[in-house]
Amino acid sequence: MSIIGVKGTHDVFGSESCEFSFVENVMKRICEFFAFSEVRPPVLEHSELFIRGVGEGSDVVRKEMYTFDDKGNRSLTLRPEFTAGIARLIVQNKLTNLQELPIKMYYCGPVFRYERPQLGRYRQFNQFGVECVGHSNPVADVDVISLAYTILQSLGLENVTIKINTLGDEESRNNYKVALKEFFAKHIDKMCPDCKQRLELNPLRILDCKVPEDQEIVKDAPKMSDYLTESAKEKFKFVLDLLESMAIPYEVDDTLVRGLDYYSDTVFEFHYKSSKGNNYGAIGAGGHYDKLIKEVGGPDVPGVGFSFGVERIVSVLKDDELFPEDIYNGLDFYVMPMGVKSQASAVAVANAVRMNGYSVDMCLDDVKLGSMFKRADKKHAKFAIIIGENEIANSKVVLKNLRTQEQLDVDISNLRDTIDELFHECECCCGDDCECECCDGDCDCDCDCDHDADGHKCCCHNHDKKEN
Ligand code: AMP
Repeated sequence: MSIIGVKGTHDVFGSESCEFSFVENVMKRICEFFAFSEVRPPVLEHSELFIRGVGEGSDVVRKEMYTFDDKGNRSLTLRPEFTAGIARLIVQNKLTNLQELPIKMYYCGPVFRYERPQLGRYRQFNQFGVECVGHSNPVADVDVISLAYTILQSLGLENVTIKINTLGDEESRNNYKVALKEFFAKHIDKMCPDCKQRLELNPLRILDCKVPEDQEIVKDAPKMSDYLTESAKEKFKFVLDLLESMAIPYEVDDTLVRGLDYYSDTVFEFHYKSSKGNNYGAIGAGGHYDKLIKEVGGPDVPGVGFSFGVERIVSVLKDDELFPEDIYNGLDFYVMPMGVKSQASAVAVANAVRMNGYSVDMCLDDVKLGSMFKRADKKHAKFAIIIGENEIANSKVVLKNLRTQEQLDVDISNLRDTIDELFHECECCCGDDCECECCDGDCDCDCDCDHDADGHKCCCHNHDKKEN
């Protein structure tokens, strides 16, 4: 019997790989505009980190962790989320002493949760997120929400709803927990076994219960907003006012509590409904945390962060057909050696063109030219380079434009310049008043497509290559 992938995992390949890379690259670029830098914590951490950091009362820790003892009898866990690991990384490397605060980091990679697999819910999935650690100014909360919103907008996701709430400070939450305990104690006999445990460990978690009968009870539970201290209320108002002044739309949702125990004050989720009406639920979520860094042995400094589910964002973009067409067409040249004797020259030509900044693949089989053209077509190659014994004898290759079918003989010594010229003969341009710097104003194509919003959409591949 053949071996299949583990339940709840999925393979990413082919065009989907292009989609994942596109999403992650947009996210990375925008994080860098916001002065966040990349961090790559390990997948494996001591289980204790998540028990203390994420919280014993959370579903993630109680039911969903991939935990095992290693050969040295250490309890290790495959990270179920990034934030606790990043807190550990910051503390262990003493970054709060060594770096200017706040420390601003972004991450991307797989996380593991033993959940019931279903549409959009995996056991191994990818998260992209940020953490901003070490500053108590609530402007940091808004900066992080604004970063997430900018990413979603840049991906073309217009129908995003930002749900936001506050969990208040410690005093607010302690008062609220007492009220919740009192309320749920009267109903707990009728509630699910999970809620019975939640009542003991953290009654806030009951608000998250998905059992319909329990949700009916939750509807009448006390509201967080009635238990906020004045300073927690003020902080939340500050955040909302700032979001408004930045024209970032939001909906206050006083049932939003988030599933990880470290959150305090501002919490938020990004929800999306596709234009076909498919509801993807939360495509990302995050919030402020006051005690996490201290909890894992660091100084008493707060942080704020969010995390996107990359799989969900890829699905949403697919559903709304928002992936740009050109993310799939990677191949510039397909090199076709005619006969085994031409293969050595073909490899040399392919490498020379690659070194010039173009993507090049080569046919490794000794097959007929027609078959090689079919392969080039399947790979969406823009040009073919054909090399036969005659060409080698004359130090030439045949260069064929696979869209227009035009072809020309080129001296190998001129190949580089000819290719640059071909790519400079752009597919698109911007009319006569192009101000982009790529072609010093003397690009002579005359199509009339629009500039990018920033006025700098470049007309020619040549420029793209040099920029990359
Ligand atoms: P969380 O760390 O629970 O706040 O989740 C952050 C984001 O990760 C969510 O908004 C989802 O988009 C995504 N996500 C969470 N759990 C899963 C899962 N099991 N499979 C796929 N994506 C998930």
